Amino acid sequence: MIPFLNLKRENDRYADEIKEAVNRVIDSGWYILGEEKERFEKEFAAYCGAKYCIGVGNGLDAIRLILMSYMEQGAMQEGDEVVLPVNTFIATALAVSQCGLTPIFADCDLDSFNIDPASVREKISDKTKAIIAVHLYGQVAPIEELKEIAEEYGLKLIEDAAQAHGAVYNGRRTGNLADAAAFSFYPVKNLGGLGDAGAVVTNDESLHSIVKALSNYGSNEKYIHTYKGLNSRLDEMQAAILSVKLKYLEEDNKRRKAIAAYYSANIYHEDILLSSISLPDSHVFHLYVIRTKNRAGLESYLKNNGVQTQIHYPSAIHKQKAYLECADQLYPIAEKLQDEVLSIPLYPSLTDSEVSEICNLINNWKNI
Ligand SMILES: *Cc1c(COP(=O)(O)O)cnc(C)c1O
Repeated sequence: MIPFLNLKRENDRYADEIKEAVNRVIDSGWYILGEEKERFEKEFAAYCGAKYCIGVGNGLDAIRLILMSYMEQGAMQEGDEVVLPVNTFIATALAVSQCGLTPIFADCDLDSFNIDPASVREKISDKTKAIIAVHLYGQVAPIEELKEIAEEYGLKLIEDAAQAHGAVYNGRRTGNLADAAAFSFYPVKNLGGLGDAGAVVTNDESLHSIVKALSNYGSNEKYIHTYKGLNSRLDEMQAAILSVKLKYLEEDNKRRKAIAAYYSANIYHEDILLSSISLPDSHVFHLYVIRTKNRAGLESYLKNNGVQTQIHYPSAIHKQKAYLECADQLYPIAEKLQDEVLSIPLYPSLTDSEVSEICNLINNWKNI
């Protein structure tokens, strides 16, 4: 059987170094807010080409902390609106809602799956204060167009880079493409820890200092509390593990791109559509997503032949019970995609023979 993702095999490649890092933390006797977090923050900021990185508890909190910081700065307040794609992982919307801001959904592009700037324009109102650009499945969102809109209306542009560590656009990596960026290091991500972890990356010094305080009970100095903050800190163990894995991120992303290129060149089926990739380096293939009208058929055929797949995502956010108030809104592209998308296995430790087996199986699918 070829599992959708084999995390044990992924991490086994670096097991010795990971164990060494974990032992170093155990032996240090220091587990929260220490050298390992500081080291990883420096390394990851440098990797992104940005000035600051703040390690936080997870990706959801990274987005929340950016928005909370802008609220502390007075750039937005409760009841203001934030535009984001309707076909993202729900965390993007939850972060907005949890700050007392209103998520306003935009539809997406049928070929790239990313947010459609034309739809964003339609959603701008007097209350709009920010746009969240999700680099969905690992591909950089249409950042130039979004930047133009943000500048025209004086909005903050925030990257949700949870699926796109290391993707490059015009010579710049994610984390350095907008006002601030949120990353997740959830184990399945391109850069994944062995537990929950996340980060905020920015070139904005004031934002950096507020996020840092907010992530630690609103305090940058012990028992001096400037803000009503959270407890959301990258712990020493995850930081040490992430420092090990960061060294291999470029290599891993290269392997992801090679597998994706193989799929794109070798999957031929009249009932299957592949997605378009405009610039090769702007996609780090967190996921490889194909489309077919008979998704249930393809899914069970692959399963019966030993290949696990997943669906990202089976339901656009306005169709989730949590966003019942948006249920009547119409997002024709996202609604079409939710019924057609299927993610096939793609991870660095997938072997060439597994990749070609998956291709052959797909090409031999009898869609009846
Ligand atoms: C994973 C993910 C998040 C949330 O990250 P967590 O670390 O799981 O909280 C947010 N946005 C997107 C697009 C994601 O894929």
